[in-house]
Amino acid sequence: MTQRFALMIDPADAAAERTDYADTFTMVDASAPALSVGELSTQRGDGVFESIGVVDKHAQEVLPHLERLAHSARLCDLPEPNREQWRQAIAAAEAACGAGESVIKLILSRGVEHGPTPTAWVTAAPASDFSAVRERGVRVVTLDRGYDLSAAERAPWLLLGAKTLSYAVNMAALREARRRGADDAIFLSSDGFVLEAPTASLILRFGDRFVTPAPTGGILHGTTQLSVYEYLSGRGFDVEYERIAASELSRADAAWLVSSVRLAVAVTAIDDVSVVADRELTQQLNAYLLSPRD
Ligand code: PLP
Repeated sequence: MTQRFALMIDPADAAAERTDYADTFTMVDASAPALSVGELSTQRGDGVFESIGVVDKHAQEVLPHLERLAHSARLCDLPEPNREQWRQAIAAAEAACGAGESVIKLILSRGVEHGPTPTAWVTAAPASDFSAVRERGVRVVTLDRGYDLSAAERAPWLLLGAKTLSYAVNMAALREARRRGADDAIFLSSDGFVLEAPTASLILRFGDRFVTPAPTGGILHGTTQLSVYEYLSGRGFDVEYERIAASELSRADAAWLVSSVRLAVAVTAIDDVSVVADRELTQQLNAYLLSPRD
């Protein structure tokens, strides 16, 4: 995926109250090097990020993504992002997107080693084509994440609820899932509760009740899961946050992995046990997720 657009943001001005932040942005050549070799984002994965889905030049759910960026920054002791400055940077990236689906990334890093400020930038690029996987669904395996449900509270330095740039573990989990013949994974806590996928939230259906793991045990609170819940409750379904034991996975009538760019994909098997894919509801969810949402 080639970057189409890249914008560096000067966070030094972030505290200033103004209406126009255009002069704190520097457009850079998206295909040329732009970061210093001393960048702590590349040396240590020390920073936070967001991926926002864009449909026909409309960035979806900008505010929830900015709220989560601020939450991740807080957990990492990074300066509070200036929402209005980032919103204007997103608007510039949105304008550079083409028709169809794109992805805008927001990155806030610790900056250059011994440097005075964080480094912040925004990119935009065409999204991968997820239409086939949205139709076909994914086979998943459960993988132990190695932490119990209370680890996030007991050891906040693990940054479990932050969307940090350190995704090497999440990528390793996806490779392990593929080694085991699956497409994706569901992380379990070491004390046997369901968490999330390496790059998506999990929603389970039990009859007319939809359940997702409560975002208290160090998982990300997914913006797509929130949207899906809004849609489902609008249709009269019960939607709940719960502590879900791993043993309950086999009782689910249906399951989905949901995330901002791939959107909703049905889970068709968990640990080689088939799960019935609700194709109609999956299509309805994706039609909703592809409609313009703020
Ligand atoms: N959980 C993890 C670990 C993720 O990486 C993501 C998205 O990248 C999600 C959940 C879903 O979040 P969202 O729906 O906001 O994309």
